[in-house]
Amino acid sequence: MRAILLGPPGAGKGTQAARLSERYGVPAISTGDIFRANVGGGTGLGLQAKEYMNAGALVPDSITNAMVKDRLSQDDVGNGFLLDGYPRNPDQAVELDLMLGDLGVKLDVVLELTADFDEVTQRLLGRALKEGRADDTEDVIRHRLEVYAESTAPLTAFYEGRGLLVQIDGMGEIDDVTERLVAAVNSLSTP
Ligand code: AMP
Repeated sequence: MRAILLGPPGAGKGTQAARLSERYGVPAISTGDIFRANVGGGTGLGLQAKEYMNAGALVPDSITNAMVKDRLSQDDVGNGFLLDGYPRNPDQAVELDLMLGDLGVKLDVVLELTADFDEVTQRLLGRALKEGRADDTEDVIRHRLEVYAESTAPLTAFYEGRGLLVQIDGMGEIDDVTERLVAAVNSLSTP
C-alpha cells in the first residue's frame, strides 16, 4: 500500500497512521515526527526546522522535500508506506510525484480524514495539556489551521482530479474511524 493520509491538524492522522501501519505492514512516515525527533536531538535539521514549527508555519519545501526523499530511499519502504503530514502544499505534491517516479512506483490512494474545525481546535488544546507540545498553544493552533486551509486543503482537489481521493469521516470513536479507513483501503483491491 502506498498511501497519503490528509486532514487538518488534530484530525487523528497520527493515531490512525500507526494503526494502519501495523495492519498493512508498511511504515508510517510522519514528517512532523521526524522534525520533532531532530529538534529533540539538536541536529542541524532540527535547528533549521524549530522556529517554523514553533510558529505553526510550514518548514521550507527545500528542507522538507530533501528529508522525505532521503526517507523514501530507505529499504523499509519497499512494500509501501503511509505518509502522514506530507505533502502539505501543491509544490510538495509535485515533488513527491517526481520522487515516486524515480522510484518507479505509484500512489494507490489518498485518504482524507475530514473533521469539524471547532472539534479539532478542542482536540489540539486537549493534547497541548497532555503532551505539552510547543506548537499546541491557542494562537499557534489557529495559525496551523489557517495554514492547512490555505496551503494544504487545495491538495484534496489535486488528488480528486487524479481519481485517488477517498474522504473518510474522522469524527467519532477512534476504532470507528479505523474501521472506515480499513474498509476504504480494502475496497480498493476488490474490482
Ligand atoms: P505535524 O506533527 O504533522 O502537525 O507537524 C508539526 C509541524 O512540523 C508543522 O506545523 C510544520 O511546522 C512541520 N511540518 C510537518 N510536516 C511538514 C511538511 N510536509 N511541510 C512543512 N512543514 C511540515
